[in-house]
Amino acid sequence: MTTRTTRRVFVVGSASGAVLSACATPRPAPAPRLSRLRPTVTVSAPARRPDAAGFVAAHLDAALAAIAGHGLSAPRPVLIAVHDTVDEFVAATGQTAPWMRAYAQYARVDFLAPRFWSDPGQHARREKLTHELWHVSTFQCFGTREHAVQAHLPFWLREGSASVVAGQVRRRAPLALVRGLDDALRAPPTDHRLRYAAAHHTCAHLVQRHGDDVFARLFAATGDAVRGRDPHPLSRALEGVLSTSEKELWREVVERSPNRAKIRQPQPSWLVRY
Ligand SMILES: [Zn+2]
Repeated sequence: MTTRTTRRVFVVGSASGAVLSACATPRPAPAPRLSRLRPTVTVSAPARRPDAAGFVAAHLDAALAAIAGHGLSAPRPVLIAVHDTVDEFVAATGQTAPWMRAYAQYARVDFLAPRFWSDPGQHARREKLTHELWHVSTFQCFGTREHAVQAHLPFWLREGSASVVAGQVRRRAPLALVRGLDDALRAPPTDHRLRYAAAHHTCAHLVQRHGDDVFARLFAATGDAVRGRDPHPLSRALEGVLSTSEKELWREVVERSPNRAKIRQPQPSWLVRY
């Protein structure tokens, strides 16, 4: 049906677990409407339903403020494309996972319109925009697309930092649910609910202990290691900035968690990924 492209840099997009059904017959779409919200931020809205992209303008200030609050520059440039059909989203991203609602690349974010999201509320719109723009900002702080790829940011830092900056703690399973995992950063659990939770709580711990700019400092040190051709850039950055390793960091996260925290019953909201 749709030719899969190979232009993705690395997987960063994610979303809720509801199943989508793609249309069997792609329809030719009229040209999207482009509008410039900032000198370096352009939005592409679907021509048939341009209001589907309204959430970008509504929450852009808050998203950029959250990113700046953690020490990174706003993405420059970035194209934010909102798609009103699954076919258009798949054609633009090459991503076919049925739960995917957004996908970030080095200078671009693609969204499926909020009406497809399991939670299309205003909080979710702000969170999702912040989360994806944070991804773009982190990629761009490495200077080039190639260096961003070579940084090999692990899942826990990439998704955990985005989750923390976007304020998505209520969408994550509690630390008590993952504190029994062994070495969860180097060996992430396959259950995405636990994987996102371990990532979020680790990054929340980093902010609490080392300050709001801890991710920016880690990314800067990782970029230096990449440019120095260090084969393990993040390990070098963790040692240099935090005097720790992934294994030690996870142990620290677990040890600082409340020992008698009760494990709540799994909540449907914990199934949301992005
Ligand atoms: Zn993400």
